[in-house]
Amino acid sequence: MNSSNDRSEPGRESELRRASVLLRDADALLFCAGAGIGVDSGLPDFRGTEGFWRAYPPYQRLGLRFEELADPVHFARDPELAWGFYGHRLALYRRTVPHSGFAVLRRWARHRPARVFTSNVDGQFQRAGFAEADVTECHGSIHHLQCLAGCSTDIWPADGIEVPIDEQSMRAVPPLPSCPRCGGLARPNILMFGDRDWRPARTDAQHRAHRDWSRRHRKVAVIEIGAGTAVPTVRRQAELAAAATGALIRINTREPDVRHGHGVSLPLRAAEALDALSLPA
Ligand SMILES: [Zn+2]
Repeated sequence: MNSSNDRSEPGRESELRRASVLLRDADALLFCAGAGIGVDSGLPDFRGTEGFWRAYPPYQRLGLRFEELADPVHFARDPELAWGFYGHRLALYRRTVPHSGFAVLRRWARHRPARVFTSNVDGQFQRAGFAEADVTECHGSIHHLQCLAGCSTDIWPADGIEVPIDEQSMRAVPPLPSCPRCGGLARPNILMFGDRDWRPARTDAQHRAHRDWSRRHRKVAVIEIGAGTAVPTVRRQAELAAAATGALIRINTREPDVRHGHGVSLPLRAAEALDALSLPA
């Protein structure tokens, strides 16, 4: 058995069957995704300092944890360090091919109204074919930029912007991305740790679209994928959306538990679970 859980096959089969029924009976689908959904596409999930340093060895030499590196202060103090990290990730997310589970979600979304709510800044749902208008990115997006100095509230796409990185030092090589209005340094439109300067307009508009959508659809099944309790925003959103119907399908290898009678627990990886659910029951 190659699955990463210790649940018996019959238990897993019955949970998959229950999930299929919830999917079948729903009028609309909400996909709530955290970092765990990207693991099967080969993306690091930055969980735990050891895991982060395995993905980015130069930061171990500098003794920098993810939480310390993802601090907007570096854009002002050491922009080449800051853009080294974010520029590397921008290139990584651009060349990453979303795994087969995304295609399953797309297929489901062709037959019923569907929306995405994610804390991921990597744009993988759009890469998988989801329309920009159907996605809420609650922590912003690495594919959009804002002015570091805040000369305006503008947010603009990072399309066409390449940031060369010295892979040994993980430092960006200037010229760095700049603000088209004032010529000063630009930064990703991502909500970082302790970030008071993040421009929320783009994400606020997505939240409004999400609320409108939620008002229009009553019988929603929620498929929550790889969203942990450490950053609980996505999990909370999923539980809230499923509160009325109990139609929550939680796909999570580490924290799969659901409250008794409040959904289905699938302690599987994203691709494995979605591939299994895509098969006709
Ligand atoms: Zn500016």
